[in-house]
Amino acid sequence: HFPQLFAPITLGKLTLRNRIVSTGHETHLNQEGQIGEKLIAYHEARARGGAGLIVTEVALVHPSAVFVADPIRVDSDACIPGYRRLADRIHAHGTGLIAQLFHPGREMIASEDGTAPVSYSASATPNERFHVMPRPMPPEMIAEVISAYGDAARRMEEAGLDGVEVVASHGYLPAQFLNPEVNQRDDDYGGSLENRTRFLREIAADIRAKTGAGFVVGMRLSGDERSHEGLEQSDTLDAWAHIADHATLDYLSVVAGSSATLAGSVHIAPPMYEEAGYTAPLGQAIKTRTGLTTIVTGRINQPQEAERIIASGQADMCGMTRAMICDPEIGNKAGEGRLDDIRACIGCNQACIGHFHAGYPISCIQNPVSGRETTLGAPQPATSPRRVMVIGGGPGGLKAAAAAAERGHDVTLFERESQLGGQARLAQLLPHRAEFGGIITNLTRECELAGVEFRKGVTVDETVISEFAPEAVIVATGATPRWPRFEGDDLDHVVDAWQVLQGKAQVGASVVVADWRADWVGMGLAEHLAQAGHRVRLAVNGYMPGQTIQMYVRDAGIGRLHSLGVEVLPYMRLFGADEDSVYLQHIMSQEAVICEEVDTLVLCQGHRPDTDVEQTLRRMGISHELAGDCIAPRTAEEAVLEGLRAGRAV
Ligand code: SF4
Repeated sequence: HFPQLFAPITLGKLTLRNRIVSTGHETHLNQEGQIGEKLIAYHEARARGGAGLIVTEVALVHPSAVFVADPIRVDSDACIPGYRRLADRIHAHGTGLIAQLFHPGREMIASEDGTAPVSYSASATPNERFHVMPRPMPPEMIAEVISAYGDAARRMEEAGLDGVEVVASHGYLPAQFLNPEVNQRDDDYGGSLENRTRFLREIAADIRAKTGAGFVVGMRLSGDERSHEGLEQSDTLDAWAHIADHATLDYLSVVAGSSATLAGSVHIAPPMYEEAGYTAPLGQAIKTRTGLTTIVTGRINQPQEAERIIASGQADMCGMTRAMICDPEIGNKAGEGRLDDIRACIGCNQACIGHFHAGYPISCIQNPVSGRETTLGAPQPATSPRRVMVIGGGPGGLKAAAAAAERGHDVTLFERESQLGGQARLAQLLPHRAEFGGIITNLTRECELAGVEFRKGVTVDETVISEFAPEAVIVATGATPRWPRFEGDDLDHVVDAWQVLQGKAQVGASVVVADWRADWVGMGLAEHLAQAGHRVRLAVNGYMPGQTIQMYVRDAGIGRLHSLGVEVLPYMRLFGADEDSVYLQHIMSQEAVICEEVDTLVLCQGHRPDTDVEQTLRRMGISHELAGDCIAPRTAEEAVLEGLRAGRAV
């Protein structure tokens, strides 16, 4: 299976068993600035699951590097014991380990002490996204920072790691020196290409001088920063050809995007609307121009795609980072040809980078064990297998059924519809959300592998429960749309989002979408209707559409709404409707806002828990576990986590 993907490859003195790479990504699993058991267990799961190479997350090399609230620091020897424990555990599985070395420059997210951030860059060129105005780095500080990269690399070698990767991608400090729009210096580090690449070349030289022969040195770069002031492909090709000619590097890791702008940052973790492997041409261009071994990363979520990229010569290795957050076993499954068993990442960003932005430890919408290896870990076999009834076949119910069956219970899942999936089936109907349906496919497969029996098209009532005679019950009956009471709520042209998505409602030419949740439903529906040619006004009960979804998904979606001419009305409360008008109230000013010439009012007003089955069970005196929206409306991620916990609890 996959001869190219599983062909060993050598970097320096490191020989990797395959070309599958977990590239550096933030986890929030570090403990007080160092590597502890949570992060070790997280990476060990990927090593055990077949990763060829793991690159650890950004680690700050110098005191002037300030990034997030609790970053990993490698600017003192205190970091060595943690990295050493990690290296021992990863190497035990035959996986290589490389550490990212990092200085964000002006791409600073937080100051460490709560004061106004002080950041340093090549020049005093402000950052658009974080609104940071940096100080120009004085020459003596440049020398100190370069030396700090070398010192950090020496520490990594002492800890037993195979190499280091300098993060020069995404508009971070080394890229700020490369970029003439940011670097306005008139000394040896600015101006000509030779001067702008000097910072990177001197970093590489310092690392080489402080580490032994064969220690792997790579750099990460954006093949195209996709930002209005960012480096374009022609710039990066010239710069990296020069660096490759004047520095001794073992590999280049190619991505797209930049942290500096909203449009560029989307490519840090490209959402599902980007094609699998869309950055491979950037990798190919760098590989051809520099002749260096190349890793490429960007929505490569299946081994078939990785094999194609390597076989076609676009790259030598593939970053499959979210693929492994979602399914740590993807390497082993690919090697064994168990392709149907792979839980493919759907690019939703909700729990991986979404958690990073929210300040939580990493996880996955489909795989709640991710990031919780030390607490959820491997399931314990049931002490006495029981006959388990799971009611509801949405994400929460499916996960509950799979988790209970994996432990040895005899599980039957009842679903009232003829198809599984619950609200995930509706989510996949929205623009750029088609892959969301993958969550149903993957969870259904988990159930099949665990031996769950399905009974579809069955409405569970007292009779069904009595006849089945369960020994344990998990209720995951989901929710129904909330239809608030307002003047005009019974008019024929007032419909809800589910009716529109299911094609059960007539929608006129001019539409108001009243979005109470400010999540993917209102935003997606507005886009869906605008694409179909309707005039759309989106009234959001919040400060922006998609306020509660992951920022890259949200930002790209807002861009599309703008392109389609959707009129967004923020801070709006729905007040009433008549034959052709919708009455809104501004949440802050309390003033009335009237939308006239409205043919259809579409309600996206959240959901109410469906508690019918729960109440029946209570009447019958049958104890039960609950999971998902039937407790209270929640995200698919929360439902899946609760499903896992419920399945482990019975
Ligand atoms: Fe992929 Fe979504 Fe899981 Fe992130 S949360 S790894 S994008 S499926």
